Amino acid sequence: MIDTGSLACTACGQCCNSPPALSLREWFAQRAVFVGSIAIERVPRRRAGERLHAETDARLLDDDDVADHDALANALFHRAPDGGWLAVTLQGYDYPSTARCPALAADGGCTLHDAGKPARCAAVPLDPLVPDRWQPLVLAARRASTQAPHWRGADCIRDGLEAGATPLIEAGRVIDTQALARERDALVFERALWRDAVAASLVGTASARASLNALRPGARLTIAPVPALLAVARISAACRAAAIDVIDRQRALIDTTVAAALARRRLDERAITQELRGFALVLSRARDELANAFVQSSAPFAHDAERWLGLR
Ligand code: SF4
Ligand code: SF4
Repeated sequence: MIDTGSLACTACGQCCNSPPALSLREWFAQRAVFVGSIAIERVPRRRAGERLHAETDARLLDDDDVADHDALANALFHRAPDGGWLAVTLQGYDYPSTARCPALAADGGCTLHDAGKPARCAAVPLDPLVPDRWQPLVLAARRASTQAPHWRGADCIRDGLEAGATPLIEAGRVIDTQALARERDALVFERALWRDAVAASLVGTASARASLNALRPGARLTIAPVPALLAVARISAACRAAAIDVIDRQRALIDTTVAAALARRRLDERAITQELRGFALVLSRARDELANAFVQSSAPFAHDAERWLGLR
């Protein structure tokens, strides 16, 4: 555990080794940077007396841990048929073989730093998806990973409040609570925009429930972002127009991403190429559906939704 810790980041870029989770708002803003997908994960129930392991550390959960976890999970996630939760997240998608985020600059910096780094990245190395009282365990796990040989000595998470480093936790309490709150607030706000609708469709049929039940905790099911776009397009005519524009940019981005992969001629990238082509196909079908759709009237929260998505 790291009860008091700080971050001495040198912008080496090593933790930017894959595209981040995004809010729908962030994805709309960076539609030409990130191919979007929807990631579905099972979040298990926790019980007092259970030992939560993370890398070399562990925490014995008590009643307060379980209460905090349940409260956060109820706010951020959706109930699953097995009594646990489903985390439904917009996730950037790319070839794992590149081992880099598409927004990573050659010098290790983030090209979105000034234009709006995703909230999930701004919270790193803390984790907005688990209770604040577990962050000492999160930090210890992250430190163990940054000390691994293949991290080329990043070693940026320090015990104690080191001079010049960003303070993270003091005596077990998170210092920058705003970084966690920004991501959690976005997840909560976007429930009404698209996450509730997508989660409901995931548990709405027996076959979908069977696929979810077969998903192990920690494993991830990835699908094209179409259900999120269709849900947001139903909010208002402006949202529908934005969704169509996102689809057009995504198809162009998928084309260039796949073309770059074909030029690399790697056999291990074939499955991802196939998946991306599948994304492009269903996005095209969704575009046709949206182009012919008639949005009857704006949803009650259309004004707030449009402001959130930067359409006003
Ligand atoms: S690995 Fe550490 S030093 Fe490198 S960019 Fe990430 S937080 Fe910064
Ligand atoms: S968006 Fe920026 S900070 Fe986040 S993973 Fe990509 S390069 Fe790193």
